Amino acid sequence: MSDAIYEKPLPVIDPGTKPFWDAAKEHRLSIPKCNACGKYHFYPRELCPHCHSDDLQWTDVSGKGEVYSYTIARKPAGPAYAPDVPYIIAMITLDEGPRMLTNIVAADVETVRIGDRVAVQFDDVTPEVTLPKFVVVKG
Ligand code: ZN
Repeated sequence: MSDAIYEKPLPVIDPGTKPFWDAAKEHRLSIPKCNACGKYHFYPRELCPHCHSDDLQWTDVSGKGEVYSYTIARKPAGPAYAPDVPYIIAMITLDEGPRMLTNIVAADVETVRIGDRVAVQFDDVTPEVTLPKFVVVKG
């Protein structure tokens, strides 16, 4: 964590997503799992999208997955993002099944490919908010 003031928009944390952000703060990736059918989903919903059960439980996952799709942002979304360009916005398929919209942190954005294996890392952007991001892992 740097001492620099974080000037980017922060996620809106509501009761439906609070467990996700609470886990991220502790550097855990946690998503809802359905006790009825055993499947995971993300983003959080009140009913399982697979079987419509409401018997859901926040469950820690591996934080591993692969790149499903990505785009390289070459123009900043606002002044606060200017130092970051180019940066990668990606859809990751977690090993547990769900897809997650996130950032891939890469020294060279041109080296990232669809299908690359990725692992979560945690960026403590403020004392209250930690953003899960992903890095490409070899092998
Ligand atoms: Zn289910």
